[in-house]
Amino acid sequence: MSEEEAPPVPPPPAPNNGGAGTVFLVGAGPGDPGLLTLAGRAALARADVVVYDRLAHPSLLGHAPERAERIFVGKEAQRHALPQPEINALLAERAQSGKTVVRLKGGDPFVFGRGGEEAEYLQKRGIPFVVVPGVTSAIAAAAYAGIPVTHRDAASSFAVVTGHERDDARESGGRAAGGAEGRRRWDRIAWAADTLVFLMGVEALPEIAARLMENGREPTTPVALVEWGTWPRQRVAVGTLADIVEVARAEKIKPPAVTIVGEVVRWREALRWFDTGPLFGKRVLVTRAREQASALSEQLRALGAEAVEFPTIRIEPPADGFAALDEALRRLQSYDWVVFTSANGVSHVWERLAQAGRDARSFGTAKIAAIGAATEAALRERGIRPDFVPTEFVAEAVVAQFPEPAAGKRFLIPRAVEARETLPDTWRAAGATVDVVPAYRTVLETEGAAQVREMLENGALDVITFTSSSTVRNFVEAVGSAVIPSTTVVAAIGPITAQTCREILREPDVTADAYTIDGLVQALSTRLSLAPTREAP
Ligand code: SAH
Repeated sequence: MSEEEAPPVPPPPAPNNGGAGTVFLVGAGPGDPGLLTLAGRAALARADVVVYDRLAHPSLLGHAPERAERIFVGKEAQRHALPQPEINALLAERAQSGKTVVRLKGGDPFVFGRGGEEAEYLQKRGIPFVVVPGVTSAIAAAAYAGIPVTHRDAASSFAVVTGHERDDARESGGRAAGGAEGRRRWDRIAWAADTLVFLMGVEALPEIAARLMENGREPTTPVALVEWGTWPRQRVAVGTLADIVEVARAEKIKPPAVTIVGEVVRWREALRWFDTGPLFGKRVLVTRAREQASALSEQLRALGAEAVEFPTIRIEPPADGFAALDEALRRLQSYDWVVFTSANGVSHVWERLAQAGRDARSFGTAKIAAIGAATEAALRERGIRPDFVPTEFVAEAVVAQFPEPAAGKRFLIPRAVEARETLPDTWRAAGATVDVVPAYRTVLETEGAAQVREMLENGALDVITFTSSSTVRNFVEAVGSAVIPSTTVVAAIGPITAQTCREILREPDVTADAYTIDGLVQALSTRLSLAPTREAP
């Protein structure tokens, strides 16, 4: 094969210098944690080190292993936590010591994120890297404001342009600033596309508006600024090229914000969807065991609420170190029914079985009951279809709906040490043998209590949610009962939790009757659409 015939091949990568770990340049999306890609989540799950900044939602760090090193590199407003050359060096240093590094960057890593510079730096040193694109704020912030960047009736193209705030020049470590500044041709930018989206364009807004009009864009062209797009604190200011500077100043719009210029902005009026729901912008305290908080938080965040997780309880092994549970599990076959009352009960039983080198076959002919939707889900995840799931999840209903007479039957209930006695007592009264064995213990978690008290005192919490009686009791113990302002909505997941709330805290404003997370969110939405509480931030 002659030289001319050789197929085009990319230049070989620089040699990998001695077992360096891979650097993943991951787009974190614009804020809403649901907008991380699956590839991004997978990269986080295998990270030894995560290097992140303020535009990445803090909850995304939860996808990284507990043991992973987490390094914040700015930027907080004007103050810069770590200059770009030091970030580059940090990524290289950690990778060269064999670590898997995730560089988590707001939006897409290659859209004004200096991901290109970071990749270049790594490439020159022979450090392997992978780029995981992200959802850029240029499109997503517009979308969450109800603005499509293209529309067949109004815009067949869009351009993403840097507004080139001072911030940007400073951040680029002096290198790109001069070059980029010199290349700016407003006559071209003004007509680069039907829709223009400016990033980093708040400080330079007066210049942007003036230059676009100078170069022929109509003063009546609609303009929107979307601040903290896709976050619960999203704010949108709408005007025209002629008046947007004044509007933005009056509304005190600050970075981060995208500026959208073009006819498509008019669609917001009809297509606005995210910042209209009853939970949008509401700050909701989620009081659950740490392990369980995420399901409720995720649902709240999807509706635009800010979920503040305050785990009041922590799950620990029972005081007897599982002795009673292990003993009962050895005799599993002797029971007619095994009754699970929580997902935690399920996971602990499975763990103890696994410890003993056993699995679900050990249940033999024993039937299985699940109380609660999450409990049923936990069993189904483990390949078990419960023989009985009551339609209501309080003890009284369980006994009433039970499919066979309890007399003479043997029941095993592996559950929390401190649960109510109603269920076992009622069955015993009906002539059954009931073994209640501790599968786990809930202990008080006080970390974060001072912060919660302060938020309450400042009226900074719109809603407090309680998902079990023990979350109420632990909340009162950790935070106290006197501090809840009347404007804060107290929500209970079901009647028993509501009763506890009534007894030791105050009358709850919302009681879900479905006794599920879905039911709680639903009831809360209904209540909040009736009565707005705190002013939007
Ligand atoms: N790589 C990022 C952009 C980084 S430059 C991306 O693809 O989105 C930083 C600028 O992005 C900010 O000044 C702001 O203009 C914009 N930005 C990032 N996140 C934003 C958000 N949630 N809402 C509005 N603008 C945002």
